[in-house]
Amino acid sequence: MTEANVAENSNAKGDDVLRIVDLHVSVNEKPILRGVNLTMRRGETHALMGPNGSGKSTLGLAIMGHPNYEITRGHIELNGVDLVELETDQRARAGIFMAFQRPVAIPGVKLADFLRHATTNVRNPDRKEGEELIAMRDFRKELRSKMEHLRMDPEFARRYVNDGFSGGEMKRAEILQLAMLAPKFAILDETDSGLDADAVRLASESIAEIGRKNMGLLIITHHDKLLEHNPPDFTHVMLGGRIVETGGVELAAELHNSGYDRIRRAYPDAEAENRAMLEQEEAQPVA
Ligand code: ADP
Ligand code: MG
Repeated sequence: MTEANVAENSNAKGDDVLRIVDLHVSVNEKPILRGVNLTMRRGETHALMGPNGSGKSTLGLAIMGHPNYEITRGHIELNGVDLVELETDQRARAGIFMAFQRPVAIPGVKLADFLRHATTNVRNPDRKEGEELIAMRDFRKELRSKMEHLRMDPEFARRYVNDGFSGGEMKRAEILQLAMLAPKFAILDETDSGLDADAVRLASESIAEIGRKNMGLLIITHHDKLLEHNPPDFTHVMLGGRIVETGGVELAAELHNSGYDRIRRAYPDAEAENRAMLEQEEAQPVA
């Protein structure tokens, strides 16, 4: 089945489901995820929490199809269609978006041009490279209105993607992408990292305004401020490459207030695996 079929299969937003089943992922032959199960419906907000090195970013990158993250077992299904064989751009066209913890710079490519390409491809999933883009006038109008709504300076879109951006600007650029692409499912990986409290509050408001109710949101965060305007329907705690606990908004509050000591004590095997992964990482720095 092609990505266009995947898009067609999803009619009403309530029907869209992203299902992760018994997912095992290795990086450089080293097992990181060890059986992750997670079901997200469009319209739901999920918080993914857990100590450093527990596998949160790995889960996001595996869903997105990063080539270094090898799926050794399990499935990632969008509306019943396995995404594992699809390339990253096909997954994006099928309606999945990820805001990276460390976005890459694309010197020479203006943010506006980048967004026009990405938006065209996501809206016309069957478009071939070289075929027409969304009309410039329509695109500009839409971009301007979204930027205004997000209280962004229009000049920002003329800059090269992430080139010399501050941490805060990178996160703003990701939020603008989210607004323009309007994905079915969005994974936000530490959209709060490196931001001061005011910037996190603005990011939180922006995500809510973009319409989190129209998306399935997976928010990876350490910061309770990011969840302020996006209270999670479900909170998942990852440790040692597994989701060890799932709860509601109260679980996110508990972890923010009290940290992970209770979780580490309750799941000693996962805690041992978490520690082992971190030690390996220290011995062999991650590129
Ligand atoms: P989190 O986002 O929860 O902090 P990550 O998913 O980034 O955790 O990392 C989980 C573990 O996977 C780390 O301890 C690290 O050892 C390993 N890992 C992740 N990415 C890579 C990589 N590109 N190369 C080698 N090891 C990696
Ligand atoms: Mg991470």
